[in-house]
Amino acid sequence: MIAQATQILEQALVDDHSFESFGDLLRLKEVVARLETRMAAGKSRRELEKAGASASEGYRIERRANNWWNPDVPVEHQDLILGALDKLSPSSERRTEIYQLAAAAALKSTPRQTHEYTKKLVRQENEELAQDPFEAYRQRRFSLGNQDEHGGCKFNGYAPAATAALFKALIDQAFRTDQATRDEDEDRRTITQREADAFEQVLRWASSDRRSHTGHCSLIVSVTEWDEFDWQVKFGTNVGLDLNLMDVDYLSGDKVIDYIQVHDHNGAVKALVTASRSANFHQRLSLFGRDGVCQHPGCNVPASRCDAHHVVPWSRGGPTSIDNLALLCPKHHRLIDDSWLEDHLEMELGRAVMVQADGTRKRNESPAAQQAGGWQVVYGHPTRIAFTLS
Ligand SMILES: [Zn+2]
Repeated sequence: MIAQATQILEQALVDDHSFESFGDLLRLKEVVARLETRMAAGKSRRELEKAGASASEGYRIERRANNWWNPDVPVEHQDLILGALDKLSPSSERRTEIYQLAAAAALKSTPRQTHEYTKKLVRQENEELAQDPFEAYRQRRFSLGNQDEHGGCKFNGYAPAATAALFKALIDQAFRTDQATRDEDEDRRTITQREADAFEQVLRWASSDRRSHTGHCSLIVSVTEWDEFDWQVKFGTNVGLDLNLMDVDYLSGDKVIDYIQVHDHNGAVKALVTASRSANFHQRLSLFGRDGVCQHPGCNVPASRCDAHHVVPWSRGGPTSIDNLALLCPKHHRLIDDSWLEDHLEMELGRAVMVQADGTRKRNESPAAQQAGGWQVVYGHPTRIAFTLS
């Protein structure tokens, strides 16, 4: 039906420009606005924009759909009244009353008069509320949203002046401290990224203060004994947010994570270790970061399918430490000769190199091996984050 009406109007654009229909056209606009408002009921602004509404249109339609509309109030007045009410303090209990006063006035006013009148009512109410010194405290709020597809969370809130001042003082101090250590010309962060980094610094200050004074654990990461190491793996935490490998490294390196809880295959807790001492976990994390894949030349088998091989065999006193461990896939692990007479691995400059029976030395230079943090550090690829633990 609406499609037909559109066709008829498109035809009118060609045939019928007579002024007689002008009043009808205005009524039509009114009907269209009411119809779009009803259709938009329960829809989000994003859905409206997807359907073709512009951002401001989407905002107005959604606002109309979510508010009472006196049937006698024309759409233009309705939008202006709701626009003025946007500014009303959320703590006001007179919203409905103000709407009704404005709606009654709209019947005999120009849109401009309606707008001015509603703005005046809103201003008076806000001024009244502003007399109350506790209003900002009553409005205080903070909420952290759910994790999105990247693992990040939005947050928003409202702080009374005292909280805001405290926050600003800390943020500004963090901001200045950070600026002082950087070369302004090299700093490619946007201003809002800098603010976000300052915010994070404030959280770290709070966290280090908490540790030295109370010693309570705040963040526990839960891993299973053989969690596969790739970037997609998410580790549960006691705060209900999932972290990936980079997050864990980022936080445990700075000792924000207090405990790493290791589970066996049945889910039972095998060990609860302080993050900085979780050697086994961190060794595997390091191997993943340094080697990325099997160290046999030409092999692309990822860390999650590899064994940690003792370069100097354990039976000959080789320690279970990072500088004596290298990743090997099961197939290539079997080819290694622990007597070192045939093909075997040796460590050279902290990374494994394959030594063949004739003495030829070869590193794995496969495409996957070149993605590893260790490779990136040695052969320098400045745009990638090198993921290694010290
Ligand atoms: Zn291999």
